[in-house]
Amino acid sequence: MSTKHVRTTGDLVRFRAALRIDCRGCGATRTLNCAEAMSAFGSAPLHHVQARSKCARCGKKQATISVLPPL
Ligand SMILES: [Zn+2]
Repeated sequence: MSTKHVRTTGDLVRFRAALRIDCRGCGATRTLNCAEAMSAFGSAPLHHVQARSKCARCGKKQATISVLPPL
């Protein structure tokens, strides 16, 4: 299944996809499954999630997010 149409955290849940958040500041990576992404950010567009994601390691808001296909 394509994840090209995943635009919001709600879409993540619908597609049962996961979200990977990479920090451009320090290189930290974390992965959230759809339920974790929904509880962390609520129902929001992914560009909003990207803007709000703060790195737990370096504290910078320089996230790059990518959608991981369902496992
Ligand atoms: Zn970082």
